[in-house]
Amino acid sequence: MIYKKYGKTGKDISVIGFGGMRFPKVNGEYDYDKCAEFVVKANELGVNYFDTAPGYCDDHSEKIMAHAFKMMKNPFYVSTKCSERDGTKLRKTLETSLKRMNLEKINFFHIWCILDIDDYRSRMVKGGAYETALKAKEEGLIEHITFSTHCSGDEIETIVNEGCFEGMTVGYNIINFPFRQKGLKAAYEKGLGIATMNPLGGGLIPQKADYFDFIRGADDKTVVDAAIKFNASHDEITTVLCGMGSMEEVIQNCKIGNSLVKLDENKLKEIEKRLFSSMDKLCTGCRYCEHCPKGIPVSKFMLSYNNHILGDTKGIYDYLRYHWGINYKQANECISCGLCERKCTQHLPIISRLKETYEWGTEY
Ligand code: SF4
Ligand code: SF4
Repeated sequence: MIYKKYGKTGKDISVIGFGGMRFPKVNGEYDYDKCAEFVVKANELGVNYFDTAPGYCDDHSEKIMAHAFKMMKNPFYVSTKCSERDGTKLRKTLETSLKRMNLEKINFFHIWCILDIDDYRSRMVKGGAYETALKAKEEGLIEHITFSTHCSGDEIETIVNEGCFEGMTVGYNIINFPFRQKGLKAAYEKGLGIATMNPLGGGLIPQKADYFDFIRGADDKTVVDAAIKFNASHDEITTVLCGMGSMEEVIQNCKIGNSLVKLDENKLKEIEKRLFSSMDKLCTGCRYCEHCPKGIPVSKFMLSYNNHILGDTKGIYDYLRYHWGINYKQANECISCGLCERKCTQHLPIISRLKETYEWGTEY
């Protein structure tokens, strides 16, 4: 396994990190022993960064991780998160995470999911999330204060330049990288460690493997390998968080971390050119746009719309109908309140895409 320095913390972190958001259910339940086997195996294969959060896997992820930690023989670091803006609530969540995972401290504690600059400011107010995390750090309950975000590159640059954080976790993949590259560079130059999440674009990359085949290098067996390698080979990126839901995935992902070749500049340019010339921005399925006041399942509509961007307009309706069981006419219930667009991590024009979905629907 290749290790990189996590910013200025002095920690050597495995280039492949374990993302604890994709543990599988068997017969509707999480089998803690089975799930913990994946975590332990990854640690045996050299992974030392384990990322979890309250709420992941119906709130089981931290507990599954705790179960695995008891069996792990190699040193490891734990990352978890809290999205509370209020300091008292953050403190309570932190204490719950510590207790659940039987830890004395969290190595990387994330101010979770900063949506935009206003949201960032709301975490920094007196008595708020950041101040409380700082106090917990002084008490030794947190080792490094970090943040996670789906902000644009410019917004990330603003945040990191204020110098409050030691690292960040950011959604970054071959679909959205032009949108965040500036922020990645700014964070790296400022000396932050960087973990990236969602390297497979919410599953879109393996689902459209033929379309994305152009990202494969000569020695990449699959587009999944190529997509993970794409992230891992960036100098700026310390670790690539991979959600691992089977032993095969653990073994395959760890193998990628053993032999990294720096991404060829020409290949990077080719990918960028292809993205800009033939694709509009794709929905990555992160679901931050949910809770529409009209009950519209926004992410499902937007994931379906990806089919149109990838050249298959009829696919929008097949996907809605057969994959999700949704009537496309629901798109017409949108009242253009803008709530979902404000939260969208990809800054997609959701309202106009819903309008198009409704208008084109009669043809399909
Ligand atoms: S803009 Fe439309 S889809 Fe988005 S939250 Fe408002 S009503 Fe729902
Ligand atoms: S529409 Fe935006 S926020 Fe919603 S799932 Fe897609 S990328 Fe994520």
